[in-house]
Formats: sequence, structure tokens, C-alpha cells
Amino acid sequence: EAKKNGRGRYEVFAGDMDDLLLRKRKVESELRKALDGDGGIKLAYQPVFAADGRRILGAEALIRWGHEVHGALPAAQFIAIAEERGLIGELGKWALSEACRFAARTELPWIAVNISPMQLRDIGFAEQVAAILKETGLAPSRLQLETTESVLLEHNDTIGAVIAALRQSGVRIVLDDFGTGYSSLSYLRRQAIDKLKIDRSFVRLLDEDESARAIARTLIDLARTLRVEVTAEGVETDAQKALLVGMGCHQMQGYLLSPPLEPGQLLALPGVSSADQERSAVRA
Ligand code: C2E
Ligand code: MG
Ligand code: MG
Ligand code: MG
Repeated sequence: EAKKNGRGRYEVFAGDMDDLLLRKRKVESELRKALDGDGGIKLAYQPVFAADGRRILGAEALIRWGHEVHGALPAAQFIAIAEERGLIGELGKWALSEACRFAARTELPWIAVNISPMQLRDIGFAEQVAAILKETGLAPSRLQLETTESVLLEHNDTIGAVIAALRQSGVRIVLDDFGTGYSSLSYLRRQAIDKLKIDRSFVRLLDEDESARAIARTLIDLARTLRVEVTAEGVETDAQKALLVGMGCHQMQGYLLSPPLEPGQLLALPGVSSADQERSAVRA
């Protein structure tokens, strides 16, 4: 039986090894069923705001699995199982199509979709993305793909070629959770990327810890010097926001501004829904 943690969420990785294997297998088969179309998998959208805290710059798609029996399973957990069990290609393709289809009917400047490193190891990935963009009618410049820095450490020819092809087509590449990996910084020079996201672990400590502040400031300066954009993730307090703005970070994401939202909730925010714009155009 799956254990629930303090917040009543389903914990796949708690308990002993036999339990763990059984639970993973159960999650795998249920995930397959969900992907076969019995539903249950959805996307939430968390807006990214300009430093003024009002203007929406874009939104990040975050996968949600409202598991019938066990309640919501944390994304990081079932993504890890999907990667391990060879389901991530299918799951990732579903998320990408769904997010692009949604974004195409909004006024959002861009939509960001998380991509597993495993997807980037597939030489056909850039073509898959192009096909999805064509099918959904979303302009490539409106798609950002977020991936973690471990990918760029591999010095893998396929990954390099896939990233280059994606950027060539106009899709933007974003380094997620920046600062948490074991990377040397030299790949920032070698590998072309468009944006980095400062990991929540630094943002969380900003108001109390001088070294977290120093790291955040350094990353923001680095981004500016290399002319890549920078977003802070996990902004929860006004103090954190003020410090980040003072350091020159102008894109923020976090509970202070908005949690991940249902599609309908995001569409209700100003400037997101195209129908909204049509209405105000008629009124004007
Ligand atoms: P991430 O891409 O770094 O996403 C940010 C996570 O932080 C999300 O958790 C989001 O709900 C949470 N978050 C946002 N603002 C705050 C805040 O102010 N405070 C705190 N404490 N948390 C905040 P979530 O949705 O559980 O996703 C976890 C991870 O799962 C994501 O981290 C991403 O790596 C992965 N993931 C989510 N959706 C997908 C997907 O479609 N494909 C792949 N490959 N990975 C995904
Ligand atoms: Mg992300
Ligand atoms: Mg992140
Ligand atoms: Mg993160």
C-alpha cells in the first residue's frame, strides 16, 4: 500500500525495497492506462511575471496526474518512473502536444514545456517538435523547452545536434534548476542556450543567507554578461522578489505571484485569453 506523507500526498518512494518495486510497477501500469486515453493526466500552467508582478510574460506547463485512488502523485515521482520504464517518450509527446494546442489559442507570448534529458537523446526529437508545432499552429518562437543542466554535461553529439536544430527552427532552450548540477560553467559558452532559471533552493534562502545571495547575484550577472535571459523560480515572499529585482532579475515565477493554475483559471487572467482581447477590441 502506498504511504501518504504529511500533506496527504501519495509517496511512491517511501517504505522498503519490495514495496518500492511493487508500487513502481503499479504506477507504471496505471500510467500506461492513463496514456492509452482513460484520462487522468492533465497540465497545469504557472504564469511567469515581469518584475512589476502584473504583466504575464509566458507560462510553464506542469504535468498533473490526478490519480483516482491515491490522490495527486508528485510530478517528479511519476516522471522518474516513466523515465525508468521507457514511458517518458510517450508522456513527453503528450505534454508537448497538449501545451502547444493550448498556447495556440491564447495570447500568451510563450509557453514553456519541461523536457526530460532522455527525450533530447532521441535524434528524431527536433522533427517531432516541428510536427507538433505544425499540427497545433503554434509559432516556434512561442515555444520554450526547459531541461536540466545534466543534459549539457554529456557532450553527446546527438544532444548537441538536437538542440542546435531546435534553436535553428526558432524554439528556445531554457536551463532549468540552474545552479544545482555539478557542471563547470564552461558549457554555457560552448552550448548555446537562451535562458536560465535560478533554482528555488537559492531563492528560498535569499533573505537569510548571504552566500545564497552571492550565488544568485553571480548567476544573474553571468546571465547578463552572456546575454541570456534569467528567470527566478520559487519566489514566495516580497522580500525575495525585491532582492531579485535589485539584482537585475526581471522574470519571476512562484507562489507569491501565482501557483500553477487550471487552464480556465489562466485564461481568466488579463492578457491571456484571445477571446478576451476580441471582446475588449469590440468594446473599444
Ligand atoms: P520544475 O520544472 O523546476 O518546476 C517547478 C516546480 O516548483 C513545480 O513543481 C511547481 O509547482 C513548483 N513551484 C512553483 N512555484 C513554487 C513556489 O513558489 N514554491 C515552491 N515550493 N514550489 C513552487 P511540480 O509541478 O511538482 O513539478 C516538479 C518537477 O517535475 C518540475 O520541476 C519538472 O522538473 C518536472 N515536470 C513537471 N512537468 C513535467 C513534464 O511535462 N515533463 C517533464 N519531463 N518533467 C516535468
Ligand atoms: Mg521547469
Ligand atoms: Mg525549475
Ligand atoms: Mg525545480
